[in-house]
Amino acid sequence: MAFSFFKGADSLFTEGIDLIKQGNMSKARDRLVKSIEKDGGPDDLSAVLVALIDMEGNLGNPSRYRALLDALRRCGAKEFEFGLTPLDRDMMIAQCELEIEKFEIIAAAEDDHVAQLEKGKRLVDLAQRYQARMGDENLKLHEIYGNDTTQTGTRIGMLLLAAAYESMASGTVWDNPRKAAEYQQIAYGYRKQLGESGDRNLELINNYSKSCKCWFCGRTASGAGIHFFTLPSDVSPMLAKSDDGEPLKSKSEGSEIYACRACNSTINWLAEAIARKYYESAIDQMRAMEARLQAEISSLQTQIMFVKG
Ligand SMILES: [Zn+2]
Repeated sequence: MAFSFFKGADSLFTEGIDLIKQGNMSKARDRLVKSIEKDGGPDDLSAVLVALIDMEGNLGNPSRYRALLDALRRCGAKEFEFGLTPLDRDMMIAQCELEIEKFEIIAAAEDDHVAQLEKGKRLVDLAQRYQARMGDENLKLHEIYGNDTTQTGTRIGMLLLAAAYESMASGTVWDNPRKAAEYQQIAYGYRKQLGESGDRNLELINNYSKSCKCWFCGRTASGAGIHFFTLPSDVSPMLAKSDDGEPLKSKSEGSEIYACRACNSTINWLAEAIARKYYESAIDQMRAMEARLQAEISSLQTQIMFVKG
């Protein structure tokens, strides 16, 4: 270490480059930081290389991408190498900007249907920009640290479009299950193009498209699991005949009946209120029993004291 103290910034920089090629990242980082200190400013390539070294194990960490982006924006070199990988500054800037935005959108809260719809629209916009700015270029950081060259702008765009339409489906199904099924259908197309099964999309398309007549109130409802539910029941053959000739059924092929969301929620609420009442009454009885036992214990203790006395 004492030896390197006398070295100039250029020599430290060259050493750092060689150490990166050898895969000795911690030593390389040390030399590059020293070269920045000697040079007196962060505006050279060393700062970019240090930020690139700091990306190892941090591909899911937005703050590291921000640090790299800052260094890239200050860097004068348009093209450079990291180890054996040639990198283009402007393409790296584009990749960092897009990745940071992706993290922000994915991390955004989606606790209501409006937010889910909004998130979907932002993802569509981002997907188009990934495809336009990166095209068939791959994410270089994933190539460097994961040996993965499949993450191209086109592929990430498709992944984001699938996620976007799924989010829009979740945001729409509350109001319009038919439209939500259309969004899931689009998402399914992207999942298939990505080589995935798309089974979850098909399941939701099937559920969103199902319609029934509520057994209790007779209203029609579309969207299984959202706007209507199946409940176990004992339907006699005579009652089952009430569906004969009806376009919409009020019971499943088995012995379950359909309940619209409103009826189902009221049934749940009533069941909960009854259960709470039983629970409170059981607790009251236990407390009364405890008080009786305590009284008996006290009385026995008094009697023992008399016997002892
Ligand atoms: Zn109903």
